[in-house]
Amino acid sequence: MAAAELSSEANSDIPDYEYTDVNTKPFHIEAFRNEWLKRLKPSDVSFREQDEDTFDADFAREMRVDPETMAELKSVCSLDSLRCHPPDQQPDDTIVPEDATLNTLMQRKERQDYKATLKTGKNRHTLYADELERITVGRKPKTMTDLIAEGEIILTINVYYPAVFEKFRSVRPHMTLRMTGTHSLAELKDAICCVSDLQVCGEFSNTPDMAPDFISKDHFKSAFFFFEGVFYNDMRFPECQDISTTTIEWAKARNFPPYSQAKMEDTRFADLKVKVGFPYLYCHQGDCEHLVIITDVRLAHMNDCLDKKLYPLLTHKHRLITQKCAVCHVFIGRWFTTNDQFAPSDPCLYCDKCFRMLHYDAQGNKLGDFLAYPYVDRGAFN
Ligand SMILES: [Zn+2]
Ligand SMILES: [Zn+2]
Repeated sequence: MAAAELSSEANSDIPDYEYTDVNTKPFHIEAFRNEWLKRLKPSDVSFREQDEDTFDADFAREMRVDPETMAELKSVCSLDSLRCHPPDQQPDDTIVPEDATLNTLMQRKERQDYKATLKTGKNRHTLYADELERITVGRKPKTMTDLIAEGEIILTINVYYPAVFEKFRSVRPHMTLRMTGTHSLAELKDAICCVSDLQVCGEFSNTPDMAPDFISKDHFKSAFFFFEGVFYNDMRFPECQDISTTTIEWAKARNFPPYSQAKMEDTRFADLKVKVGFPYLYCHQGDCEHLVIITDVRLAHMNDCLDKKLYPLLTHKHRLITQKCAVCHVFIGRWFTTNDQFAPSDPCLYCDKCFRMLHYDAQGNKLGDFLAYPYVDRGAFN
């Protein structure tokens, strides 16, 4: 890093701060990767574990110690000499001894004692977060063809929830994804879960089975990312429109700096010139706007998840409270009704099962008078 910092003034492909600790100046991702690869030895980016003897020899040379000292260091620092019990006793390693003096053990004990005071165990959200972590760390693919290439770029990307809800004005919940330099922007678009994509507009009390045919994402596929003056539009489908044109024309008429357009499906992350830490834009469903911040760009490491198939890799997901059905109070609401003679309130929220049991006979005929609208809960992706 020191070498990189020294030469950064001369080289715009090496990131430098624009605002300290906030964001960098724009740099080209592929060129940045090449700068690293030029400076590193192949063994530095290799995923192959070094054998122990080579590691020891390298370590001894680097620290300028002779083989005897190295051997002594190894035995003194070995895990076998870290003991808080007599050598002939096999301890239970889940129990921290009462009289532990090692700081790490004291902290572990504190944590254990605290956990024991909690009434409930892990909830499903914590379990899910643990699961996310398990699949992200050091995961190797089953076949070599799915292995991430050595020297590949890994990007960490935060996608924020749109600030359309009052409660998101102060907190900005987000999802965090890891992607590689070879991923296209269209792959990022497909990995973003937003409830606006699942919205169904219309009244379906006479034909509830038809509702899934009207999901927004199947009808309104236009979307764009905005990075560094370029609108990257999704043009993969014939019905896609370039929805950035309006903004570009508007800016042109008002003497703003010119913006340009490109296709998100033809743009890889490696092709982008971006600022790390800077808020960019993702816009879909007409006006659902999300901030997108690239928080890290680096080379892949052997401890990363190396299975290509698991990317884009979700590493964090904000969880929302879900609205439950007014009848069973168990399942997430899927329908709401108005002018409903069976309902305790107007409007009233139902899960799919309760909605159908209450409003249709066994043959699926509508009972009574009411209007029904599909409802998609914001926590539907939890
Ligand atoms: Zn959205
Ligand atoms: Zn229900």
